[in-house]
Amino acid sequence: MDDALQQLTALVARLQGPGPRSARRVVLHLMKNRETVLQPLLAALGRVEGALSDCSICGNLDTVDPCRICTDPKRDPGLLCVVADVADLWALERGRLFAGRYHVLGGALSALDGVGPDDLSIGALKARVADGVTEVVLAMNATLEGQTTAHFVAEALEGTGARVTQLAHAAAVGGGVDYRDDGILAQALRLRRPV
Ligand code: ZN
Repeated sequence: MDDALQQLTALVARLQGPGPRSARRVVLHLMKNRETVLQPLLAALGRVEGALSDCSICGNLDTVDPCRICTDPKRDPGLLCVVADVADLWALERGRLFAGRYHVLGGALSALDGVGPDDLSIGALKARVADGVTEVVLAMNATLEGQTTAHFVAEALEGTGARVTQLAHAAAVGGGVDYRDDGILAQALRLRRPV
């Protein structure tokens, strides 16, 4: 993750914890600690706001385009992990669990939320897979939407020649970054199986 994003994440982590009264506590905390909390936070927000962009290759959020993951020469170019959202990518990155690169679909198929196949970046994914990817790891969550999306992506990649696998326990991904356990996620990745 970029320095500015890392600083912002560290500053936000220092705010008061979540809960129904947290907004008032956070505002009060910011007002009481103008020099040590509010001003660094405003500066960090400003730095990120001025430079933030979607990676034109994978869909990650970073302050450079292409993102640092896509341009990292140490990553295996034959290994691609498909996630629904940037939050899932960040969860996998937080534990430094995955040695390949990512593809962010931009959501999961959901009739309820009006998300259809055209809303996901499938065309870009197929083009990337055709360009030398040997294994695609689907890291979708265990919900109906997540599994429907996993099947849809696996079908879309049929005929590309790439091996398509998915995490051993789909439940390891999803439900928000804070609910994920790096150990379970690492195991789910290690024990991934063909779709
Ligand atoms: Zn990228």
